[in-house]
Amino acid sequence: MLYRTVPKTGDRLSILGFGCMRLPSTKTGGVDEDRAIRQIRSAIDNGVNYFDTAPLYHLGKSEQVLGRALADGYREKVRIATKLPPWLVRGRADMDRILDSQLRTLSTDHIDYYLLHSLSKEAWEKLKNLGVREFLDTAKKDGRIRNAGFSFHGNTAALREIVDAYEWEFCQIQYNYLDEHNQAGTEGLRYAATKGLAVMIMEPLRGGNIAGPVPDEIQTIWDESPVRRSPAEWGLRWVWNHPEVTVVLSGMNDESHIEENLRAAASALPDSLTQEELALVSRVRDTYNRLMKVGCTGCGYCMPCPAGVDIPGCFSSYNTHHMFPHDRTAKFLYIGRHGGVLGDTSYAGLCRQCGKCEKICPQHLPVSMLMKEVSREMEGRGLGVKLLVLKGLLWCYDVAGRISRKFKGRTT
Ligand code: SF4
Ligand code: SF4
Repeated sequence: MLYRTVPKTGDRLSILGFGCMRLPSTKTGGVDEDRAIRQIRSAIDNGVNYFDTAPLYHLGKSEQVLGRALADGYREKVRIATKLPPWLVRGRADMDRILDSQLRTLSTDHIDYYLLHSLSKEAWEKLKNLGVREFLDTAKKDGRIRNAGFSFHGNTAALREIVDAYEWEFCQIQYNYLDEHNQAGTEGLRYAATKGLAVMIMEPLRGGNIAGPVPDEIQTIWDESPVRRSPAEWGLRWVWNHPEVTVVLSGMNDESHIEENLRAAASALPDSLTQEELALVSRVRDTYNRLMKVGCTGCGYCMPCPAGVDIPGCFSSYNTHHMFPHDRTAKFLYIGRHGGVLGDTSYAGLCRQCGKCEKICPQHLPVSMLMKEVSREMEGRGLGVKLLVLKGLLWCYDVAGRISRKFKGRTT
């Protein structure tokens, strides 16, 4: 296992981080706890020391399972990263309540890497106004957290603003060879790194989509390489090739994937891909781009939209839905991200057809017409009902957590 250093603290982290968002599941859809615990402990035994979870993952089960996996002396060998969900925060007291509950769930007295979950410009404004910077300062001072950071799905401009607004130790961004110019992108990665932040990478394989099975056209290109690597290894190595990257999170839930990732993490040094290998990745990227439904580059020139539509975000989800038809989560994530569940509403159906974006778009995209298409396919009928169900699930999870804590408080 290779390790990289957190610039502000000198902490040494394994370049492969264990993402606990997609733990192995049972036939009925729950988390297969015994298998997940075995996998987590085996990864630790093989040098992984960074574990990323969140209250949202597996509706609270992820933190619970990780807490159990880290019993029997494993806690001391690792750093735990978990997150504050902005959508459950209505005031400063909620921040303390949620963090204290996470400490109990994870059976620990401190969180090593604490993130504000899935920040956008709007979510950051909300948390800032509720006193989140003071909360982080206090939690660091009293030892409940060691390092403060945030995870992020907005654009480069918003990332810069958030990076500059607090003394963060780290941030977590989506990055892979298809997202060089989407969300934070390469520019955001470099900006955060020049400000001394460790950068953790999520979705290095686009939710597993570029890991395979990949379209035949793509596999043919990979097969040209004299070095045999799986599409997943190519994707991970491309991210690790960037010296600005500290940890790459992989949502591993199959023993063979864990082994493969561990093997790659033993030799993926920064700047170790050859020019020929980088050219091969570029050709794969170009082919994926050709297979895309909408040629949006994610430049963000069209933003902000007066109706509140996240234009590049909606196109990105739409493209994912079309490039990877076997992936059933694209619509669900679209509704979560743009329907107002995890931030402000920004879905395609809000488009008022004003045409402002079309005058600016360097790709000359007929955005207003495309928005109708995106809305029809991604939202379908009954968006309001789908949103109610999602919000209801999150609300139930929050209330169930409160009741369980109250009950425990009375019986202990
Ligand atoms: S056409 Fe639609 S998406 Fe474009 S700026 Fe106007 S409201 Fe926003
Ligand atoms: S300006 Fe065009 S290419 Fe750029 S993000 Fe907007 S729609 Fe996409």
